[in-house]
Amino acid sequence: MKCNQKHKLMRISFIFLIVLLFVRGYPAEENTEEETVIEDFFICRTCGNDVSVANLAFDKYTPLALSATNHSFTETRSVLIQEVQNPLGIRFHIFLVKQASCAKVHPWTIKSTWFPGYAWKVCVCPKCHTLLGWMFEPVESATAEQSFPSEAGFYAIIFQNIITEGFVNSLLMKEKALRDN
Ligand SMILES: [Zn+2]
Repeated sequence: MKCNQKHKLMRISFIFLIVLLFVRGYPAEENTEEETVIEDFFICRTCGNDVSVANLAFDKYTPLALSATNHSFTETRSVLIQEVQNPLGIRFHIFLVKQASCAKVHPWTIKSTWFPGYAWKVCVCPKCHTLLGWMFEPVESATAEQSFPSEAGFYAIIFQNIITEGFVNSLLMKEKALRDN
């Protein structure tokens, strides 16, 4: 019970941060009455921790993509999935979000970046330390003080390492329906 309450509190804080991100850049008077509808949550496939929300997904092509397809996370949200390869020959399918929850890690690097002009560092789950993807920041602002991407940066998330809450719920509903019948 105590654990559930803590999780609920963490989620409320997370939603609050996301809402703050949305209202920035708009005149305050237009937003005081508005509610942001979260389209879906991206959660860590390993531990279920919140990673980001579907509303924050956006498309930006990397010239180094081996392939690119579109994937519909929700009825209204189709996202560009790009296949990239690291110098070790390991391939990943990634999509981009403007904001995500990652643990604080080592400095930025520009070596073998998939997005020219951007430095990167890994994004690991703050709870279970699974690799979730990478953070990107323009080279000029990728300083030691800038621990996480600024508004000019973004996050590349590994498609296979997250799952949407909508999908998890649909599985639970199916499970329940099977038990009830
Ligand atoms: Zn995790």
